[in-house]
Amino acid sequence: MSLVINTRYCDRCGTCIAVCPQNALMLTNELSVNNETCTRCGVCVSLCPIAALTIEK
Ligand code: SF4
Ligand code: SF4
Repeated sequence: MSLVINTRYCDRCGTCIAVCPQNALMLTNELSVNNETCTRCGVCVSLCPIAALTIEK
């Protein structure tokens, strides 16, 4: 499984970054995830206001 970021829809609001318990999300030009530290907990997926995040197999 991996966290997939739909960068086309993400408006870089920062909500997911603030709620990630692993600090696995980073915002530079666009949002990215550190797959080494992301536990696929789903917290960011459930709180993204525009559903730009999904966990896929
Ligand atoms: S919460 Fe959603 S819209 Fe906001 S930065 Fe994260 S992925 Fe992008
Ligand atoms: S799935 Fe969990 S650990 Fe991974 S980026 Fe989202 S909030 Fe962080």
